[in-house]
Amino acid sequence: SGAFLSVRDLYVHFDTEGGTVKAVDGLSFDLERGRTLGIVGESGSGKSVTNLSILGLHNPKKTDISGEILLEGQELTTAREKTLESLRGNKMAMIFQDPLTALSPYYTVGRQIAEPYRKHMGVSKREAHLRAAEMLDKVGIPNAKLRVDDYPHQFSGGMRQRAMIAMALVCNPDLLIADEPTTALDVTVQAQILDLLKDLQQEFGSAIIFITHDLGVIANVADDILVMYGGRAVERGSVAEVLRAPQHPYTWGLLSSMPRLAGDVNEELVPIKGTPPSLLAPPPGCPFHPRCEYVDEVAGGKSCSGDRPRLPEGRGAACHLTGEQKKTFFIEQIKPR
Ligand code: SF4
Ligand code: MG
Repeated sequence: SGAFLSVRDLYVHFDTEGGTVKAVDGLSFDLERGRTLGIVGESGSGKSVTNLSILGLHNPKKTDISGEILLEGQELTTAREKTLESLRGNKMAMIFQDPLTALSPYYTVGRQIAEPYRKHMGVSKREAHLRAAEMLDKVGIPNAKLRVDDYPHQFSGGMRQRAMIAMALVCNPDLLIADEPTTALDVTVQAQILDLLKDLQQEFGSAIIFITHDLGVIANVADDILVMYGGRAVERGSVAEVLRAPQHPYTWGLLSSMPRLAGDVNEELVPIKGTPPSLLAPPPGCPFHPRCEYVDEVAGGKSCSGDRPRLPEGRGAACHLTGEQKKTFFIEQIKPR
């Protein structure tokens, strides 16, 4: 397809001492410029691994990747490390959950923002330093012209997060991947950072992948949602579609266990029963079937434990229930108990 980013039938398997971990097990999605895709799921759902693979940050010796990752038509799964290196920071960048994994304590914040800019844009040290201060100002660091020469330890946690965002954005990346970038922050700073990402997206027209386990955050930032479970995408649609009329029993569970959204739909929070599937020995059929309370409702000769449900292109869920059942059961779920 001609999408800006197109992931086609992606499999990412790792060899471990315990066996093969099927971290991503057949994933397809498209992303256009100026749009934000929220990928939501519990830890171990494959959301982080997917994005490390896009950036080429997996360990190639231990990882078995198949399928395609096309960035403006350029295939990344088979790209050389040199190519990936020049794309990272320039065309694509990542914001991590923990700024300390991205910021070195030994160099000033400004130098760490300036360095990739100098490298990719070929400008002078002085120009790059000015650019670093400008970026710090853009991400809302007060007195950016002075603070640019501070070391990371002189910044508060929220400021370090902003500095990391400045570092990720300094080369105006076309694709920005944010992996739980606000989880460690207090609610006020979280909201500021989310606003900031939206502003910067408007200015630069970047495509953003926003990874989180929190549907409440997704509701604020994303245009589209991809729900992942056990290495597979189980539901996709626009934010409005997925949050108002979710079709997959796992998404229903996520919604009822989210405090901020549950306030609207459900009096009491209901955590999802059971544990996430093993990626070493994933359950056959639907990966959610050991935890799903609708297994016995499926008709038409389909078996939840035997037949793998497919996720349709566009809006839909990978579940054997009929469209009518998906509506009825969701409404029953959100009725006040
Ligand atoms: Fe539940 Fe079956 Fe649908 Fe999977 S396919 S979510 S087990 S009803
Ligand atoms: Mg993760």
